[in-house]
Amino acid sequence: RCGYVAIVGRPNVGKSTLLNHILGQKLAITSRKPQTTRHNMLGIKTEGAVQAIYVDTPGLHKNNEKALNRFMNKSAASALKDVDVVVFVVDRTRWTDEDQLVLDRVQYVQGPLIIAVNKADRMEDKAELLPHLQWLTEQLPNAEVVPVSALHGHNLDTLERLVAEHL
Ligand code: GDP
Ligand code: MG
Repeated sequence: RCGYVAIVGRPNVGKSTLLNHILGQKLAITSRKPQTTRHNMLGIKTEGAVQAIYVDTPGLHKNNEKALNRFMNKSAASALKDVDVVVFVVDRTRWTDEDQLVLDRVQYVQGPLIIAVNKADRMEDKAELLPHLQWLTEQLPNAEVVPVSALHGHNLDTLERLVAEHL
């Protein structure tokens, strides 16, 4: 089995960190600065008979006036087409206007959708995740939800298993 997996989300939620951890190598540059990923990046993870082709995207930007931002938004939007699974990465500590932009696009995705609630390592209390999540899952009733820590690798096996089920 083989398929494309788009990793989308606003800048800085940890998309590239997630891809790197899944691949076990530093393919995509990660940084505290937004706009570190300027092009879509492909990373292939083969495990047994399953081959997942991950597409890391620059993230959707609110400011569409700069040419670079428009270019990055186009890259991110194009990654949503012709994919088998979409992983929508959100930061469990913060919901912003740019997350809303991504949500607006992701709502039109027909295929399987997984919400990866990242930075779950910073969670002192698991209940803290819930208010934010409940609202989000109401917006995306067909999405599966998995809390992860891209940085520490928590729960990425679960995420990869969910992805593989749709390939
Ligand atoms: P991207 O713009 O979505 O690709 O985000 P990056 O992967 O470049 O990460 C943005 C920042 O968030 C970096 O400083 C990462 O180290 C940090 N980050 C990513 N994942 C996690 C996580 O699971 N926990 C914590 N605490 N920080 C993270
Ligand atoms: Mg990135």
